[in-house]
Amino acid sequence: MSYDTVREADPAVADALEGERARQNDTLAMIASENHVSEAVMEAQSSELTNKYAEGYPGERYYGGCEFADDVEQLAIDRAKELWGADHVNVQPHSGSQANMGVYLGVLEPGDKILSLDLTHGGHLSHGHPANFAGQVYEVEQYEVDEESGYIDYEGLHEHAEEFEPDIIVSGYSAYPREVDFGRIQEAADAVGAYHLADIAHITGLVAAGVHESPVGVADFVTGSTHKTIRAGRGGIIMCDEEYADDIDAAVFPGSQGGPLMHNVAGKAVGFKEALEPAFEEYAQQTVDNAVALGDRLKEHGLDLVSDGTDNHLVLIDLRPSHPDTTGKDVEAALEEAGIVLNANTVPGETRSAFNPSGIRAGTPGLTTRGFDEDDCREVADLIYEVVEAPHDESVVAEVGERVDELTDEYPLYE
Ligand SMILES: *Cc1c(COP(=O)(O)O)cnc(C)c1O
Repeated sequence: MSYDTVREADPAVADALEGERARQNDTLAMIASENHVSEAVMEAQSSELTNKYAEGYPGERYYGGCEFADDVEQLAIDRAKELWGADHVNVQPHSGSQANMGVYLGVLEPGDKILSLDLTHGGHLSHGHPANFAGQVYEVEQYEVDEESGYIDYEGLHEHAEEFEPDIIVSGYSAYPREVDFGRIQEAADAVGAYHLADIAHITGLVAAGVHESPVGVADFVTGSTHKTIRAGRGGIIMCDEEYADDIDAAVFPGSQGGPLMHNVAGKAVGFKEALEPAFEEYAQQTVDNAVALGDRLKEHGLDLVSDGTDNHLVLIDLRPSHPDTTGKDVEAALEEAGIVLNANTVPGETRSAFNPSGIRAGTPGLTTRGFDEDDCREVADLIYEVVEAPHDESVVAEVGERVDELTDEYPLYE
């Protein structure tokens, strides 16, 4: 058995890994779904548990030698229960999309009906887009945000539910800057006897910290990603009442997955422990405060925000009113050149295309992990604005890049 480093075993991959570390250190990660996990979470994720088969659940495995896998999974489950207050937790989904698949397989039959938010209004592919299995196996209709206000049209959703009679209503979004009224959506679900799946992928950390209303105990099922605001490494999670526990567990394994990624379950356990520390509440609150500061300054510059602001970790800029000839892709490319990495995004009432949309989405989870405060985020807003004003001006982009270098030097990430 040799214990080569990656550098010794595979210089090409070592170069790419080093490049990625430097890229993360030297740029501002403002993709709203991204964050930076701790070195401890990364250590757990790269542990020997990657070798272990542990099909089944703690205490009921199909393989021997699972005592440490059991320890790790039980710790992840117990901590998740404490963080979110759920009755039953499954920490095995390989990703947030797999978590949603687990719920659909657990309680729906092929051909059943899903009512979910339109992707161009902030929904997610796994909520029944035709390109996703859910769109192919189930009958899907979509609700929308009010294009004027940018808020979920709860009234319209309720009426749509009464007309369509879905088997499940999906809430929880990818590009929605406002607090979600899960209770209001639950009312619509109750009115038509539908299940309610609240997919809190983006806001798991905000909900755990009490900075966003929790759907746990309100919706029948709550799913999440573990690598976004909760900072526990790549993966997914499902929470539900005890009455659905067996159906959900069976839908994850053997329904849709084989052996759990035990090294990632270990990452979840460590990340959840970190999130139980009081400092995490401060982190979550600072993430929101930073997004509000970022949004306010962008508005001072005359940029238009969907819903006119934010309650959470992200802002969605609609470029059309202030910069009708500039596309999201233009801005995304120029900002990346300057070291600010975010994504072009559709906006409600999109008049371009999903591939070349009119908006940009910017999040603060990664910056806040680095230590950025509101002043820093106002400066970042100034930088974004300068590039929005002149995405094709190389000297502006270069000058912004220098100021990004100063910020990243001030807040080093991985030493
Ligand atoms: C990110 C996200 C997911 C899950 O994504 P994965 O990449 O599969 O982990 C699911 N739902 C929503 C709303 C999301 O934003």
